[in-house]
This record gives sequence, C-alpha cells and structure tokens, in this order.
Amino acid sequence: MGTIELVQGDITKIKADAIVNAANTSLMGGGGVDGAIHRAGGPEILEDCRKIVARQGGCKTGQAVITTGGKLPAKYVIHTVGPVYNSGKRGEDELLHSAYLNSLKLAAENDVHTIAFPNISTGIYHFPKDKAAAIAVKTVQDFLAHNDVVEKVIFVCFDDENFSLYQELLAQK
Ligand code: ADP
Repeated sequence: MGTIELVQGDITKIKADAIVNAANTSLMGGGGVDGAIHRAGGPEILEDCRKIVARQGGCKTGQAVITTGGKLPAKYVIHTVGPVYNSGKRGEDELLHSAYLNSLKLAAENDVHTIAFPNISTGIYHFPKDKAAAIAVKTVQDFLAHNDVVEKVIFVCFDDENFSLYQELLAQK
C-alpha cells in the first residue's frame, strides 16, 4: 500500500510526478496556489489549459484535468476545482471528496507514482480547514488501500493551522 507524507511549504518546489492545483472552473489561473503554480511553471501550463478549454470548456467543480508541469520540478500538474464553501448544505463535502478522488484517478491513469496535494478549497474558497483536512486524509487513505499505481501522496500545507491539523489526523491510526 502507498504511503502518505506531510510537509509544510511551497508546493511549486516539490519534486513529484505530479502536483495538484486548486484551480477554478475557467482554468485560466487565479490567486493563491493557482497563481503560484502558473508563475513558477511558466506559460506552457496555460497553453495546455487553453487546449482543454477549447475541447471541453473548462473544468467542473469536483472534476480534474492534467497538463504539463512546464518548468516545475513536477512532470505534470493536475488541476482540480474544489467547491466554494457556502452553508455546507450545497454538497460541499461530497464535491471536495470528488476533487481529491478524481485527481487521484487521473494520476493513476497517467502512471503517476508520487503526487502532492495542496489544501484544496481552504483559501479563497473558505472551506473549514478541519473538515477539509478530514475529507482529504480519508479520501487519500481509502484510495491508497485499493490501487497499485500511486505509491506516495504528499500533503503540502502552506499555513501553520493546516499543518497541525494534518499532523493530528495522520498520527491517528
Ligand atoms: P481555493 O480557492 O481552493 O481555496 P487557494 O489557493 O486560495 O485555493 O488556497 C488553497 C490552499 O493553498 C490554502 O490553504 C493556501 O494557504 C494554500 N497555498 C497558497 N499558496 C500555496 C503554495 N505556494 N503552496 C502550497 N499551498 C499554497
């Protein structure tokens, strides 16, 4: 079974087969981790995104698409769209679960052995961090138990609060 690693820092620096971007439905870049990934990876990533948009018109919430990693140390970027958190009664939990799961499935389809995730939806999209961390960890653990392509998942936390939440969750077995 695959392993889970936890690090604190900037996901654009991570050497993995793929890093995941918390994108928006337009796939045309934005703030937060999305902006950082496009800045560090260069214009090739946006070129690939434009091709995807021409083909399928963006990316729906909970879905995922894959592009080159451009100049990043990672070979691919998997762009997924997490939900904007409103009341919590608009299917946000399920959509966040789908964002993680569809990213992992796309990774396996592309022979990705190591993949790094940011804390999707916990920035501008305001998903409560504790609930988001629990969904992320459970989705990844369940996936790793049933697949043999993805060998390592790295959770990359940017802020202290997310980092401690993941530390606590991953210490429980
Ligand atoms: P969303 O719109 O999905 O909420 P954000 O980019 O606003 O996306 O935030 C998602 C998470 O990514 C937040 O926890 C934020 O702290 C984190 N983040 C921002 N920049 C980086 C980075 N360079 N590397 C890793 N995580 C980052």
